[in-house]
Amino acid sequence: MSVYAWIGLGNMGGPMSANLVAAGHEVRGVDLNEQARAAAAGAGVHLADSVAQALAGADAVITMLPKGQHVRAVYEGPEGIWAHATESMMLLDCSTVDIETSRYIHEQSAARGLKFVDAPVSGGISGAAAGSLAIMLGGAPELMERAGELVAPMSARAIVAGGPSMGIAAKICNNMMLFIDLMASAEGSQLAEKLGLDPQVFWEIVSVSSGRSWAQQTWYPVPGIVDTAAANNNFEATFRVDLARKDVGLALDAGTMSGICLPAAQLVSKHFDELISEGLEDKDCSLIVKNLVPGGQV
Ligand code: NAD
Repeated sequence: MSVYAWIGLGNMGGPMSANLVAAGHEVRGVDLNEQARAAAAGAGVHLADSVAQALAGADAVITMLPKGQHVRAVYEGPEGIWAHATESMMLLDCSTVDIETSRYIHEQSAARGLKFVDAPVSGGISGAAAGSLAIMLGGAPELMERAGELVAPMSARAIVAGGPSMGIAAKICNNMMLFIDLMASAEGSQLAEKLGLDPQVFWEIVSVSSGRSWAQQTWYPVPGIVDTAAANNNFEATFRVDLARKDVGLALDAGTMSGICLPAAQLVSKHFDELISEGLEDKDCSLIVKNLVPGGQV
């Protein structure tokens, strides 16, 4: 049994930490949100009132927070992780953050003699609940075996992406491809329908043809075709527009930093921005299909 300190018990952190409890580990959770705390307590997480309390004697510290700024805030300062971590603990950040934040946390942790691994995840809320996430590990080679053991109860596969920040680099590139694929499915679905194809027949053709993708299989933005699609449920979010926009923005920032042109990602971000300007940031990202149709009807 290991002792985990867990910071960020939201949509992802809640079920992920619950899987650690179910696997027989002790989890001490911290969150600012009362609802998130109560749900975690219900799943067997021991609530802590401070980072210091959660970290005392822990084997691992996991952060699962919205953005880079939240991760920095939780690491820095007299109440933060760096002030209370010890050399025996492994620090893992599972959040999707910008490359610069990830590099900063790696550098600052190493300068303090602390073991840090970036460990972003893919698989969404359903993968978090099922314990079937893909987890991408970035850090010093000698830390990878232990990091893999620590995340195993939450994942179907933990893959070593490479050295420091290579996990987050893989995650950012993967999600950029996902949202470009989603845009392709949105455009294909609408054009096919206007050309007179039956939506179900077209989806089945694509499923065995070269237009197939994870987005087309899982998030197809036409009601009544794919069970897991938010289109069946008035585009209630399984992956929110604003979080999708954040992820594409991380890719665009990384592209600027690296001198790479990303025209398709730019186009996708523009469509997410349109939805956000219409007040639809809480809806599902597959609503990207909306403004392809004159009048915005889907
Ligand atoms: P969320 O907003 O549901 O949860 C984040 C939690 O962090 C909230 O409960 C919030 O109260 C807490 N928090 C914020 N600041 C804090 C602080 N200073 N101290 C303690 N708690 C604090 O977000 P989520 O959907 O769980 O996503 C978390 C991360 O995982 C994000 O980076 C997201 O991009 C990534 N991610 C999400 C999904 C998904 O499908 N939702 C999939 C893969 C990766």
